[in-house]
Amino acid sequence: MKPFFGANWKMNGSGLEGLSWLQTIKESSGDRACSQLVLFPPFTLLPVLAEDAREAGIELGGQNLFFEPSGAFTGEISASMLVEAGCTWVIVGHSERRHVLHEDDATVGRKLFAALGSGLGAVLCVGEKIEERDAGQAGDVVERQLTSALGGSGPVDGSSLVVAYEPVWAIGTGRNASPGDIETMHALTREVLSRVLPGDAGSRVRIIYGGSVKPSNAAGILAVPGVDGALVGGASLDPASFQQIAGAGRAAP
Ligand code: PEP
Repeated sequence: MKPFFGANWKMNGSGLEGLSWLQTIKESSGDRACSQLVLFPPFTLLPVLAEDAREAGIELGGQNLFFEPSGAFTGEISASMLVEAGCTWVIVGHSERRHVLHEDDATVGRKLFAALGSGLGAVLCVGEKIEERDAGQAGDVVERQLTSALGGSGPVDGSSLVVAYEPVWAIGTGRNASPGDIETMHALTREVLSRVLPGDAGSRVRIIYGGSVKPSNAAGILAVPGVDGALVGGASLDPASFQQIAGAGRAAP
């Protein structure tokens, strides 16, 4: 399975910036065939960027979705709407949605079920807050988030699920988990996936790291055993930085 690199722009970027970002990727010499690259721009940019993303060899994803297929849910967007806008992926349970917008585990699980059921690949984000880590609860939190989200998701094809381990205290802060902690949390994630998913699906899910990944620290993080790529926020706004991070993944043993 190819390493997975997601560029999560959050609530940043314009149409012109997006087209220029994709142009830079298109013109670069990097070998994109070795990795799976997915751009997660704001919803309004999806149709604007769809054609250029295809030409650049980058897939598009939504940063969120709602679990109902349609109806009176003002401000929400469904899985099929994302597919129509050109998405093949969606992020589910990002920490900013869990902790700023108060999405609970049950909601995250319903969203994951809706995404996978509509044929979208899903990046399921999990990770502990600093007080949970300090209290020695990091493993318990991530195990709870995984089992809760995956409990209702039905048959899962491992290649359409990516789990992003993102310690909340490392997102947008410039801090990173230590290589030892990343290895431990990824191993725990793999163990839970193997236990809760049917057959060998758990062994095929890619487990990626997120939290202040930058060109300067990417090689070290991606060399940690069990790290299958990265979800990149701030540094992904610069196409050259995002490419350097993906390139560091290719160089990692
Ligand atoms: C993210 O948005 O998932 C993320 C990891 O952000 P940053 O790289 O800015 O920490």
